[in-house]
Amino acid sequence: MALLFSCPTCSQSMSYPISNMYDSDISLSTSPLSNYCSHCGCDHVLPREPAMAAARKLMTQLAGEKCIDFDSKATLLRKELKTDSLYGKARGKMFGVLFCRTANGEEQILKAFSGQYNGLWEVDGWAPPLFDVQEFATLTQPAEQRIKTLGREAEDTALSSDRRSRLLKKRKELSQQLMKEIHRLYRLHNFRGRKISLLELFPDGSGIPTGTGDCCAPKLLNFAARKGFQPLGLAEFYWGRTNKSATRHEGYFYPACLDKCGPILGFLLCGLEEQQCRN
Ligand SMILES: [Zn+2]
Ligand SMILES: [Zn+2]
Repeated sequence: MALLFSCPTCSQSMSYPISNMYDSDISLSTSPLSNYCSHCGCDHVLPREPAMAAARKLMTQLAGEKCIDFDSKATLLRKELKTDSLYGKARGKMFGVLFCRTANGEEQILKAFSGQYNGLWEVDGWAPPLFDVQEFATLTQPAEQRIKTLGREAEDTALSSDRRSRLLKKRKELSQQLMKEIHRLYRLHNFRGRKISLLELFPDGSGIPTGTGDCCAPKLLNFAARKGFQPLGLAEFYWGRTNKSATRHEGYFYPACLDKCGPILGFLLCGLEEQQCRN
């Protein structure tokens, strides 16, 4: 079995036999997940290596099934679950695997995609987002509608009029308020049994990059903490067409991002070592 693969240096399509493709030489680094925790005043560390075999298996499944639904064949025909969109205009995305142990001592593999998958926040078999999807929709849909309406009204108003600046100011306030409310919906659970919203973690709300909490690592750790699973290893890789800035290539492992995950992984990983001692 061979796979078409886009060369990171020349962007040419190349064919790789699947058996060779995921050897360790293709991974850029095997650095563990390590983040400073202000609660403990130290770094919490989760290795990558124990999750790499499962991550390579997931790559093989993505390449073979060409969709992200491996279990319920009934939904196989759902267009939004196919992987072809990862090779189009929207390009690829990050996927992640968390290798853990359940309270009964059984091995468990959790998997996640970053952000939404073709507009879907939830797909069976994949770690859910950090918020309740229904609550999120109830909050955002009417608010976004109001923000759009204000924008349209401003467009229809004379350029330098007072009314226009009032409308734009109102729109800005509503957007900022909506972001705050969204951050209140993101609930982070850690291995110390603590639960906190993004808004509580960053009370002034400013400087939280868009998409914070939507990467694979936070989704996986949050889900494992809620389930009482003990994480043993976490690996994140890119799948699909190389990103625009050419910093992400299919089949490569990457460390957690600094801007969005850096500020929250310390909290999410907290309690990990104690949990390892308990089990
Ligand atoms: Zn991230
Ligand atoms: Zn800690």
